[in-house]
Amino acid sequence: EVELANRVLALTPSSTLAITAKAKELKEQGEDVIGLGAGEPDFNTPKHILDAAFLSMKEGHTKYTPSAGLPALKKAIINKFELDQGLSYKPNEIIVGNGAKHALYTLFQVLLNDGDEVIIPAPYWVSYPEQVKLAGGVPVYIDGLEQNHFKITPEQLVKAITNKTKAVIINSPSNPTGVLYTAEELMELGKICLEKNILIVSDEIYEKLIYGGAIHISIAQLSQELKEQTIIINGVSKSHSMTGWRIGYAAGNKQVIEAMTNLASHSTSNPTTTAQYAAIAAYNGPQEPVEEMRQAFEKRLEIIYDKLVAIPGFTCVKPQGAFYLYPNVRNAAEMTGFNNVDDFVEALLVEAKVAVIPGSGFGTPDNIRLSYATSLDQLETAVSRIHRFIMTKV
Ligand code: PLP
Repeated sequence: EVELANRVLALTPSSTLAITAKAKELKEQGEDVIGLGAGEPDFNTPKHILDAAFLSMKEGHTKYTPSAGLPALKKAIINKFELDQGLSYKPNEIIVGNGAKHALYTLFQVLLNDGDEVIIPAPYWVSYPEQVKLAGGVPVYIDGLEQNHFKITPEQLVKAITNKTKAVIINSPSNPTGVLYTAEELMELGKICLEKNILIVSDEIYEKLIYGGAIHISIAQLSQELKEQTIIINGVSKSHSMTGWRIGYAAGNKQVIEAMTNLASHSTSNPTTTAQYAAIAAYNGPQEPVEEMRQAFEKRLEIIYDKLVAIPGFTCVKPQGAFYLYPNVRNAAEMTGFNNVDDFVEALLVEAKVAVIPGSGFGTPDNIRLSYATSLDQLETAVSRIHRFIMTKV
């Protein structure tokens, strides 16, 4: 028996894991289960990106790179910031990591001392609290109210701040809700952060996947002061369907980036060289594939959203981005005789053969998360299975 470190014993097991494991087990038994748990686009990485990666290997680019990433990739990222957001960064204000997840992990490692607090709006992406805890920090949650489309208000932010608050995370568009903050909302939150000197961690990984004419605004775009107060996290995983390549980055204060680079030099050395070449092609090459994927997601959303909210006991804030639906199903669970949504989710899997993720893992136990990163055909079948399941129970 090996005695493990306290820091890993304190980790909360992934809520998505139990249901995914069970879905897998049922599939292996020959059950026709539809999985709506996916956290990644269902498209292939665009071909010109694959070609660039292959070419880089053939040209011999298979060695270490600088820890913070290839200069050419930093340049491509800097161009992207200029073009999309009018933000200008210098190379020493950018670090490329092994996915946005790793950029966030490294960021919290260099920011937090034991007991430092990080404000996390709920519902939240499951890794934020765990990463904060791994760095010795303390997650402080603000419940985004459903009637406010799960967005936190300035009053809530003020109330959550203590003399230990180090940072606040803004994730717009949000996983799991798909909701976007407007410029006005960000400005109000930003003002408070400036006043109280709280760092803003802006996770913009779903920036490119927005619908219904929505506009993505980064809080860093609102003023020079806010830019200096913000570390932006982004990457190519969701935008270019490159989840497996593991390329993400952080942009902001050069002291923070330098510390992150030092840490990376002793932990990963550098993100995989081939993947960095692929990411250069992703940003410098044609962007049409990104738009094609966005349109496919939007079409699915439009069709599936209407069918989902037609299910008795389901209400759903309409997402403006990402590729998840996050309905409140508390009434549906009650109507069908379940004490809580976790049990309802289990029955959906076993009886209706649809795997969804319970909201408990995202900090809001009345909701479920359905991913529409799967074919329209599968989505329609899944939603009608859920509908039928409920009709047979009430
Ligand atoms: N941030 C959010 C909100 C996410 O949903 C994800 C992926 O699921 C990530 C970051 C991590 O992305 P990456 O694949 O670049 O590590």
